[in-house]
Amino acid sequence: MKIGIVGLPNAGKSTLFNALTRAGAETGDYAFTTIDPNVAVVPVPDERLDRVAATVRSSSVVNETIEFHDIAGLVPGAAQGEGLGNKFLAAIRETDAICHVVRCHASGSVPHPEGRVDPGEDIDLIETELLAADLEQSERRLERVIKQSKTGDKVAIAEQGWLEQVVDALGSGTPVRDVPVPDAAKGAPQRLFALTSKPILYVANVDEGVEEVPEAVAAHARGAGATAVPISARIEVELGDLDDEGEAAEMRAELGISESGLARLIHAAFELLELLVFFTAGEDKEAMSRSLRRGSSAWEAAGKIHTDIQDAFVRAEVVGWSDLVESGGYAPARDKGLLRTEGRTYQIADGDVITIKV
Ligand code: GDP
Repeated sequence: MKIGIVGLPNAGKSTLFNALTRAGAETGDYAFTTIDPNVAVVPVPDERLDRVAATVRSSSVVNETIEFHDIAGLVPGAAQGEGLGNKFLAAIRETDAICHVVRCHASGSVPHPEGRVDPGEDIDLIETELLAADLEQSERRLERVIKQSKTGDKVAIAEQGWLEQVVDALGSGTPVRDVPVPDAAKGAPQRLFALTSKPILYVANVDEGVEEVPEAVAAHARGAGATAVPISARIEVELGDLDDEGEAAEMRAELGISESGLARLIHAAFELLELLVFFTAGEDKEAMSRSLRRGSSAWEAAGKIHTDIQDAFVRAEVVGWSDLVESGGYAPARDKGLLRTEGRTYQIADGDVITIKV
């Protein structure tokens, strides 16, 4: 899963990114994080996986990861090709979701590019760029599709109709996600690659100890069907500097922060993208967690493990993680009837431990 971090200059993007990079660096497994300085690969810790691994005596634990891409160049004027704007817009197109960092802390020592702290207005400035970039893209796509629809192609005709609505909508400040797609043009959004159809996660970069998202940001999130989480980016970096988890917990308690901001961000991303987690684990093998869209089948889960395993799929053996842990292993879980054999259409549940038989 790839998430692009955007926001105005000085909103706190690099600070948040640094906190995320440290969380990634801690695990040591992800040497590739250092290859691209703008990408942080962050493991998604999951206590359930640790317990499954201990139960079946796995050799190691490999957590699912999220890639955060720091897209620092998205500034007002980016859509007009100012600076490296277009390059950054292209980078956002590759992501599954957008994490929009909004400055909400009042620190006088941090200058604001617009000379005032107004989170609602800041969100508008960035979103105007996304709308402008999409408008340009949609107009170009529309020109191409008009040519195709002249040949009488039914899909192209439906797509043209949708794109005309999209162009109108974008022109009046409405994101692509709010323009209904007709059945006859189902694949059109995938072909457009719009920025304003991506799910958004607002990070309200709040003063330390603040646990609430300011109303201006919360209102935007509600309007966009998005999620908003409060994080103090600077505190997260400081917490990341503490080696000892006990010390970090103590500091969080002192500041009145209930959950690690990064954990909050990761949970929010999973919710936003409607993901669930399933596990694979065996004795002396790696225990792994992987994410999957809710509603996915055992067959799709197999594809996440390996395309070869998917191709050779015969059946899946499935047990809920707590049933496995409480039974003390696969064999006792099977004896109790808690480990089931399922076919390829079985819908994976969050926390399932699965073994694909080939
Ligand atoms: P970017 O331009 O969006 O990448 O912003 P930075 O992450 O570089 O942050 C800009 C300035 O704001 C830096 O001096 C940070 O130390 C400061 N800053 C970032 N987050 C916070 C925060 O939560 N509280 C305070 N007081 N300052 C912050």
